[in-house]
Amino acid sequence: NKQVILNNYVSGFPKEPDMSITTNTIQLKVPEDSTGILVKNLYLSCDPYMRPRMQKLDGSYVESFKPGSPIYGYGVAKVLDSGHPRFKKGDLIWGMTGWEEYALIATPQSLLSLFKIQHTDVPLSYYTGILGMPGMTAYAGFYEVCSPKLGEYVYVSAASGAVGQLVGQFAKLLGCYVVGSAGSKDKVDLLMNKFKFDEAFNYKEEEDLNAALKRYFPEGIDIYFENVGGKMLDAVLLNMRARGRIAVCGMISQYNLDKPEGVYNLTTLISKGIRMEGFLVPDYYHLYPKYLEMIIPHIKEGKIVYVEDVAEGLESAPSALIGLFSGRNVGKQVVAVARE
Ligand code: NDP
Repeated sequence: NKQVILNNYVSGFPKEPDMSITTNTIQLKVPEDSTGILVKNLYLSCDPYMRPRMQKLDGSYVESFKPGSPIYGYGVAKVLDSGHPRFKKGDLIWGMTGWEEYALIATPQSLLSLFKIQHTDVPLSYYTGILGMPGMTAYAGFYEVCSPKLGEYVYVSAASGAVGQLVGQFAKLLGCYVVGSAGSKDKVDLLMNKFKFDEAFNYKEEEDLNAALKRYFPEGIDIYFENVGGKMLDAVLLNMRARGRIAVCGMISQYNLDKPEGVYNLTTLISKGIRMEGFLVPDYYHLYPKYLEMIIPHIKEGKIVYVEDVAEGLESAPSALIGLFSGRNVGKQVVAVARE
Protein backbone atom coordinates (compact mmCIF):
# COMPACT_ATOMS: atom_id res chain seq x y z
CA ASN A 1 0.00 0.00 0.00
CA LYS A 2 1.73 3.17 -1.23
CA GLN A 3 1.23 6.26 0.94
CA VAL A 4 2.05 9.99 0.78
CA ILE A 5 3.69 10.90 4.09
CA LEU A 6 4.26 14.39 5.48
CA ASN A 7 7.92 14.39 6.52
CA ASN A 8 7.80 17.42 8.78
CA TYR A 9 5.84 20.60 9.43
CA VAL A 10 6.21 23.05 6.55
CA SER A 11 6.98 26.75 6.65
CA GLY A 12 6.83 29.01 3.59
CA PHE A 13 6.02 27.49 0.20
CA PRO A 14 5.59 23.69 0.35
CA LYS A 15 8.12 21.67 -1.65
CA GLU A 16 8.07 18.14 -3.02
CA PRO A 17 10.64 16.87 -0.47
CA ASP A 18 8.26 17.92 2.33
CA MET A 19 6.43 14.70 1.46
CA SER A 20 7.64 11.21 0.62
CA ILE A 21 6.15 8.08 -0.86
CA THR A 22 6.48 5.00 1.33
CA THR A 23 4.95 1.55 1.25
CA ASN A 24 3.38 -0.50 4.03
CA THR A 25 1.59 -3.82 4.13
CA ILE A 26 -2.06 -3.89 5.11
CA GLN A 27 -4.89 -6.42 5.23
CA LEU A 28 -7.53 -5.60 2.60
CA LYS A 29 -10.20 -6.27 5.21
CA VAL A 30 -11.87 -4.26 7.96
CA PRO A 31 -10.66 -5.47 11.39
CA GLU A 32 -13.20 -7.74 13.15
CA ASP A 33 -14.30 -5.25 15.81
CA SER A 34 -14.35 -2.15 13.56
CA THR A 35 -17.36 -0.28 12.17
CA GLY A 36 -15.12 1.34 9.56
CA ILE A 37 -14.78 0.76 5.83
CA LEU A 38 -11.78 -0.27 3.76
CA VAL A 39 -11.61 1.60 0.47
CA LYS A 40 -9.56 1.60 -2.70
CA ASN A 41 -8.81 5.20 -3.65
CA LEU A 42 -9.51 6.10 -7.26
CA TYR A 43 -9.05 9.89 -7.40
CA LEU A 44 -7.53 12.29 -4.89
CA SER A 45 -8.29 15.99 -4.81
CA CYS A 46 -5.53 18.61 -4.43
CA ASP A 47 -6.96 21.54 -2.47
CA PRO A 48 -5.40 24.79 -1.23
CA TYR A 49 -6.71 24.32 2.36
CA MET A 50 -4.30 21.38 2.69
CA ARG A 51 -1.36 23.79 2.95
CA PRO A 52 -2.34 25.20 6.38
CA ARG A 53 -2.71 21.62 7.59
CA MET A 54 0.97 21.02 6.78
CA GLN A 55 1.98 23.39 9.59
CA LYS A 56 1.46 23.24 13.32
CA LEU A 57 -1.97 24.72 13.96
CA ASP A 58 -3.20 25.98 17.29
CA GLY A 59 -6.82 26.88 17.79
CA SER A 60 -7.73 26.39 14.13
CA TYR A 61 -10.99 24.80 13.01
CA VAL A 62 -8.97 22.07 11.33
CA GLU A 63 -6.24 19.78 12.63
CA SER A 64 -2.67 19.61 11.39
CA PHE A 65 -1.50 16.59 9.44
CA LYS A 66 0.80 14.41 11.55
CA PRO A 67 4.44 14.28 10.47
CA GLY A 68 5.34 10.67 9.71
CA SER A 69 1.74 9.76 8.80
CA PRO A 70 -0.15 9.85 5.49
CA ILE A 71 -1.80 13.14 4.68
CA TYR A 72 -5.51 13.06 3.87
CA GLY A 73 -8.07 14.99 1.91
CA TYR A 74 -11.09 14.67 -0.33
CA GLY A 75 -11.15 11.75 -2.72
CA VAL A 76 -13.29 9.31 -4.66
CA ALA A 77 -13.05 5.68 -3.58
CA LYS A 78 -14.58 2.23 -3.92
CA VAL A 79 -15.62 0.26 -0.84
CA LEU A 80 -13.78 -3.09 -0.68
CA ASP A 81 -15.00 -4.18 2.75
CA SER A 82 -17.40 -2.68 5.26
CA GLY A 83 -18.15 -3.05 8.94
CA HIS A 84 -20.69 -0.23 8.73
CA PRO A 85 -24.41 -0.70 8.00
CA ARG A 86 -24.54 2.37 5.69
CA PHE A 87 -21.90 1.04 3.27
CA LYS A 88 -21.43 -2.18 1.39
CA LYS A 89 -18.77 -3.71 -0.82
CA GLY A 90 -18.80 -2.10 -4.27
CA ASP A 91 -20.25 1.27 -3.15
CA LEU A 92 -18.61 4.36 -4.61
CA ILE A 93 -18.10 7.24 -2.20
CA TRP A 94 -16.55 10.70 -2.04
CA GLY A 95 -15.26 12.42 1.07
CA MET A 96 -12.24 12.41 3.36
CA THR A 97 -9.78 9.64 2.71
CA GLY A 98 -6.07 8.99 3.24
CA TRP A 99 -3.55 9.81 0.53
CA GLU A 100 -2.70 6.18 -0.10
CA GLU A 101 -3.77 3.39 -2.41
CA TYR A 102 -6.03 1.76 0.18
CA ALA A 103 -7.43 3.46 3.26
CA LEU A 104 -9.30 2.39 6.36
CA ILE A 105 -11.90 5.05 7.14
CA ALA A 106 -12.97 4.30 10.68
CA THR A 107 -13.57 7.33 12.91
CA PRO A 108 -17.26 8.22 13.38
CA GLN A 109 -16.54 11.77 12.20
CA SER A 110 -14.87 10.71 8.96
CA LEU A 111 -17.60 8.12 8.24
CA LEU A 112 -20.25 10.81 8.72
CA SER A 113 -18.53 13.07 6.20
CA LEU A 114 -18.76 10.54 3.34
CA PHE A 115 -21.24 10.91 0.49
CA LYS A 116 -22.47 7.91 -1.50
CA ILE A 117 -22.17 8.41 -5.25
CA GLN A 118 -25.50 7.86 -7.01
CA HIS A 119 -24.83 9.19 -10.52
CA THR A 120 -22.15 7.17 -12.29
CA ASP A 121 -22.89 8.26 -15.87
CA VAL A 122 -20.54 11.23 -15.43
CA PRO A 123 -16.74 11.07 -14.99
CA LEU A 124 -16.05 9.79 -11.46
CA SER A 125 -13.20 12.29 -11.05
CA TYR A 126 -15.86 15.04 -11.12
CA TYR A 127 -16.64 14.09 -7.51
CA THR A 128 -13.34 15.76 -6.55
CA GLY A 129 -14.48 18.92 -8.33
CA ILE A 130 -17.74 20.03 -9.90
CA LEU A 131 -19.75 17.28 -8.15
CA GLY A 132 -17.81 17.45 -4.89
CA MET A 133 -16.47 19.99 -2.42
CA PRO A 134 -15.31 22.68 -4.92
CA GLY A 135 -18.64 22.50 -6.77
CA MET A 136 -20.55 22.98 -3.53
CA THR A 137 -18.20 25.85 -2.65
CA ALA A 138 -18.98 27.66 -5.89
CA TYR A 139 -22.71 26.98 -5.52
CA ALA A 140 -23.06 28.00 -1.87
CA GLY A 141 -20.62 30.89 -2.18
CA PHE A 142 -22.29 32.38 -5.22
CA TYR A 143 -25.99 31.71 -4.70
CA GLU A 144 -26.17 31.79 -0.88
CA VAL A 145 -23.47 34.27 0.12
CA CYS A 146 -23.39 36.73 -2.81
CA SER A 147 -27.19 37.19 -3.21
CA PRO A 148 -26.72 37.69 -6.96
CA LYS A 149 -29.19 39.49 -9.22
CA LEU A 150 -29.67 39.54 -12.98
CA GLY A 151 -27.35 41.96 -14.76
CA GLU A 152 -24.98 42.58 -11.86
CA TYR A 153 -21.23 43.10 -12.35
CA VAL A 154 -19.31 40.10 -11.04
CA TYR A 155 -15.56 39.69 -10.59
CA VAL A 156 -13.89 36.32 -9.84
CA SER A 157 -10.20 35.84 -8.96
CA ALA A 158 -8.33 32.53 -9.48
CA ALA A 159 -11.09 32.24 -12.04
CA SER A 160 -9.88 29.24 -14.03
CA GLY A 161 -9.47 27.02 -10.95
CA ALA A 162 -11.65 24.33 -9.41
CA VAL A 163 -14.06 26.82 -7.81
CA GLY A 164 -13.58 29.92 -9.96
CA GLN A 165 -14.50 28.38 -13.32
CA LEU A 166 -17.88 27.37 -11.87
CA VAL A 167 -18.61 30.68 -10.17
CA GLY A 168 -18.09 32.46 -13.49
CA GLN A 169 -20.36 30.06 -15.35
CA PHE A 170 -23.07 30.26 -12.66
CA ALA A 171 -22.95 34.06 -12.91
CA LYS A 172 -23.27 33.90 -16.71
CA LEU A 173 -26.26 31.54 -16.40
CA LEU A 174 -27.93 34.15 -14.23
CA GLY A 175 -27.30 36.90 -16.79
CA CYS A 176 -24.54 38.76 -14.96
CA TYR A 177 -21.57 40.54 -16.54
CA VAL A 178 -18.55 38.46 -15.51
CA VAL A 179 -14.84 39.22 -15.51
CA GLY A 180 -12.21 36.76 -14.30
CA SER A 181 -8.51 37.01 -13.61
CA ALA A 182 -5.92 34.25 -13.79
CA GLY A 183 -2.16 33.89 -13.93
CA SER A 184 -1.32 32.91 -17.54
CA LYS A 185 -2.33 33.53 -21.13
CA ASP A 186 -3.62 29.96 -21.51
CA LYS A 187 -5.86 30.39 -18.50
CA VAL A 188 -7.18 33.71 -19.80
CA ASP A 189 -7.96 32.00 -23.12
CA LEU A 190 -9.88 29.29 -21.23
CA LEU A 191 -11.91 31.91 -19.37
CA MET A 192 -12.89 33.64 -22.59
CA ASN A 193 -13.32 30.73 -24.98
CA LYS A 194 -14.32 27.75 -22.87
CA PHE A 195 -16.14 29.26 -19.89
CA LYS A 196 -17.50 32.25 -21.85
CA PHE A 197 -16.65 34.97 -19.35
CA ASP A 198 -17.35 38.45 -20.76
CA GLU A 199 -13.77 39.57 -20.13
CA ALA A 200 -10.64 38.11 -18.57
CA PHE A 201 -7.13 39.31 -17.78
CA ASN A 202 -3.76 38.05 -16.58
CA TYR A 203 -3.23 39.73 -13.19
CA LYS A 204 0.51 39.05 -13.39
CA GLU A 205 0.77 41.41 -16.35
CA GLU A 206 -0.98 44.30 -14.61
CA GLU A 207 1.29 46.82 -12.88
CA ASP A 208 -1.68 48.57 -11.30
CA LEU A 209 -4.55 46.27 -10.29
CA ASN A 210 -6.77 49.21 -9.40
CA ALA A 211 -6.39 50.63 -12.93
CA ALA A 212 -7.02 47.18 -14.46
CA LEU A 213 -10.27 46.78 -12.51
CA LYS A 214 -11.38 50.30 -13.50
CA ARG A 215 -10.81 49.33 -17.12
CA TYR A 216 -13.04 46.23 -16.86
CA PHE A 217 -15.58 47.70 -14.46
CA PRO A 218 -16.00 51.39 -15.34
CA GLU A 219 -19.21 51.37 -13.28
CA GLY A 220 -17.79 49.30 -10.42
CA ILE A 221 -18.20 45.76 -9.08
CA ASP A 222 -21.42 44.46 -7.45
CA ILE A 223 -20.06 41.04 -6.48
CA TYR A 224 -16.50 39.96 -5.82
CA PHE A 225 -15.87 36.23 -5.37
CA GLU A 226 -12.63 36.31 -3.38
CA ASN A 227 -10.18 33.47 -3.87
CA VAL A 228 -6.79 35.14 -3.51
CA GLY A 229 -6.69 38.00 -0.94
CA GLY A 230 -3.82 40.44 -0.40
CA LYS A 231 -3.21 43.17 -3.00
CA MET A 232 -6.09 41.96 -5.15
CA LEU A 233 -8.59 42.42 -2.34
CA ASP A 234 -7.24 45.91 -1.66
CA ALA A 235 -7.69 46.92 -5.30
CA VAL A 236 -11.18 45.40 -5.42
CA LEU A 237 -12.26 47.34 -2.33
CA LEU A 238 -11.56 50.58 -4.22
CA ASN A 239 -13.79 49.45 -7.07
CA MET A 240 -16.87 48.11 -5.27
CA ARG A 241 -20.26 49.67 -5.90
CA ALA A 242 -22.58 50.78 -3.11
CA ARG A 243 -24.32 47.75 -1.49
CA GLY A 244 -21.83 45.37 -3.11
CA ARG A 245 -21.09 41.91 -1.70
CA ILE A 246 -17.76 40.17 -1.25
CA ALA A 247 -17.86 36.41 -0.64
CA VAL A 248 -14.60 35.51 1.06
CA CYS A 249 -14.02 31.99 -0.14
CA GLY A 250 -10.25 31.87 0.22
CA MET A 251 -7.03 33.87 0.17
CA ILE A 252 -4.49 31.60 -1.47
CA SER A 253 -1.89 34.38 -1.86
CA GLN A 254 -1.61 34.46 1.95
CA TYR A 255 -1.34 30.75 2.83
CA ASN A 256 2.45 30.51 2.49
CA LEU A 257 3.33 33.81 4.18
CA ASP A 258 4.54 33.95 7.79
CA LYS A 259 2.81 37.29 8.19
CA PRO A 260 -0.34 38.08 6.16
CA GLU A 261 -0.13 41.09 3.84
CA GLY A 262 -1.80 44.29 5.01
CA VAL A 263 -5.20 45.19 3.53
CA TYR A 264 -5.64 48.95 3.73
CA ASN A 265 -8.93 49.87 2.06
CA LEU A 266 -11.43 48.26 4.42
CA THR A 267 -13.06 51.60 5.30
CA THR A 268 -14.82 51.44 1.92
CA LEU A 269 -17.00 48.73 3.51
CA ILE A 270 -18.48 51.47 5.71
CA SER A 271 -18.80 54.27 3.21
CA LYS A 272 -20.38 52.09 0.52
CA GLY A 273 -22.39 49.75 2.74
CA ILE A 274 -20.62 46.67 1.40
CA ARG A 275 -21.19 43.23 2.93
CA MET A 276 -18.08 41.06 3.16
CA GLU A 277 -18.79 37.53 4.36
CA GLY A 278 -16.54 34.54 4.84
CA PHE A 279 -17.94 31.03 4.59
CA LEU A 280 -16.94 27.39 4.95
CA VAL A 281 -18.44 24.91 2.54
CA PRO A 282 -19.24 22.11 5.06
CA ASP A 283 -21.83 24.46 6.59
CA TYR A 284 -23.75 24.19 3.31
CA TYR A 285 -23.53 20.44 2.62
CA HIS A 286 -27.23 20.04 3.48
CA LEU A 287 -27.84 21.73 0.08
CA TYR A 288 -25.93 19.01 -1.80
CA PRO A 289 -29.03 17.12 -3.07
CA LYS A 290 -30.46 20.41 -4.36
CA TYR A 291 -27.15 21.23 -6.02
CA LEU A 292 -27.00 17.82 -7.75
CA GLU A 293 -30.52 18.34 -9.08
CA MET A 294 -29.40 21.57 -10.70
CA ILE A 295 -25.91 20.65 -11.87
CA ILE A 296 -26.29 17.13 -13.32
CA PRO A 297 -28.67 18.23 -16.12
CA HIS A 298 -26.45 21.26 -16.82
CA ILE A 299 -23.44 18.97 -17.26
CA LYS A 300 -25.35 16.56 -19.49
CA GLU A 301 -26.71 19.36 -21.66
CA GLY A 302 -23.26 20.97 -21.90
CA LYS A 303 -24.51 24.20 -20.30
CA ILE A 304 -21.76 23.98 -17.71
CA VAL A 305 -18.32 22.67 -18.66
CA TYR A 306 -15.54 21.59 -16.35
CA VAL A 307 -11.78 21.54 -16.94
CA GLU A 308 -9.59 19.18 -14.93
CA ASP A 309 -5.84 18.75 -14.71
CA VAL A 310 -5.25 15.06 -13.99
CA ALA A 311 -1.89 13.87 -12.65
CA GLU A 312 -1.28 10.14 -13.07
CA GLY A 313 -0.37 7.90 -10.13
CA LEU A 314 0.06 8.42 -6.40
CA GLU A 315 3.77 9.23 -6.97
CA SER A 316 2.74 12.42 -8.77
CA ALA A 317 0.58 13.61 -5.84
CA PRO A 318 3.18 15.73 -3.94
CA SER A 319 4.13 17.62 -7.09
CA ALA A 320 0.48 18.09 -8.08
CA LEU A 321 -0.39 19.45 -4.64
CA ILE A 322 2.41 22.01 -4.44
CA GLY A 323 1.68 23.09 -8.03
CA LEU A 324 -1.48 24.83 -6.75
CA PHE A 325 0.67 27.49 -5.10
CA SER A 326 2.56 28.45 -8.26
CA GLY A 327 -0.52 28.17 -10.46
CA ARG A 328 0.81 25.15 -12.38
CA ASN A 329 -2.66 23.54 -12.43
CA VAL A 330 -4.92 24.43 -15.32
CA GLY A 331 -8.40 23.75 -13.94
CA LYS A 332 -9.22 21.37 -11.10
CA GLN A 333 -6.11 19.47 -9.94
CA VAL A 334 -6.85 15.78 -9.53
CA VAL A 335 -4.58 12.78 -8.92
CA ALA A 336 -5.71 9.55 -10.58
CA VAL A 337 -4.60 6.71 -8.30
CA ALA A 338 -6.59 3.95 -10.00
CA ARG A 339 -9.35 3.97 -12.62
CA GLU A 340 -11.51 1.26 -11.08
P1 NDP B 1 -7.54 26.49 -7.80
O1 NDP B 1 -7.95 25.34 -8.62
O2 NDP B 1 -7.99 27.85 -8.20
O3 NDP B 1 -5.97 26.45 -7.64
C1 NDP B 1 -5.27 27.46 -7.00
C2 NDP B 1 -4.98 28.63 -7.95
O4 NDP B 1 -4.71 29.78 -7.17
C3 NDP B 1 -3.71 28.45 -8.77
O5 NDP B 1 -3.92 27.69 -9.93
C4 NDP B 1 -3.32 29.89 -9.08
O6 NDP B 1 -3.97 30.30 -10.27
C5 NDP B 1 -3.93 30.67 -7.91
N1 NDP B 1 -2.85 31.22 -7.06
C6 NDP B 1 -1.87 30.53 -6.45
N2 NDP B 1 -1.07 31.37 -5.76
C7 NDP B 1 -1.56 32.63 -5.97
C8 NDP B 1 -1.17 33.93 -5.54
N3 NDP B 1 -0.11 34.12 -4.74
N4 NDP B 1 -1.90 34.99 -5.96
C9 NDP B 1 -2.98 34.82 -6.75
N5 NDP B 1 -3.40 33.62 -7.19
C10 NDP B 1 -2.70 32.53 -6.79
O7 NDP B 1 -8.01 26.26 -6.28
P2 NDP B 1 -9.51 26.07 -5.75
O8 NDP B 1 -10.46 26.52 -6.79
O9 NDP B 1 -9.62 24.72 -5.19
O10 NDP B 1 -9.56 27.12 -4.54
C11 NDP B 1 -9.77 28.50 -4.78
C12 NDP B 1 -9.89 29.22 -3.45
O11 NDP B 1 -11.05 28.76 -2.77
C13 NDP B 1 -8.73 29.01 -2.49
O12 NDP B 1 -8.43 30.22 -1.86
C14 NDP B 1 -9.27 28.01 -1.51
O13 NDP B 1 -8.64 28.08 -0.26
C15 NDP B 1 -10.72 28.44 -1.43
N6 NDP B 1 -11.67 27.42 -0.97
C16 NDP B 1 -12.48 27.74 0.10
C17 NDP B 1 -13.44 26.88 0.53
C18 NDP B 1 -14.33 27.31 1.65
O14 NDP B 1 -15.04 26.47 2.21
N7 NDP B 1 -14.36 28.57 2.01
C19 NDP B 1 -13.57 25.55 -0.05
C20 NDP B 1 -12.73 25.32 -1.21
C21 NDP B 1 -11.80 26.23 -1.63
P3 NDP B 1 -3.40 31.50 -11.18
O15 NDP B 1 -2.50 30.87 -12.20
O16 NDP B 1 -4.63 32.09 -11.73
O17 NDP B 1 -2.62 32.40 -10.25
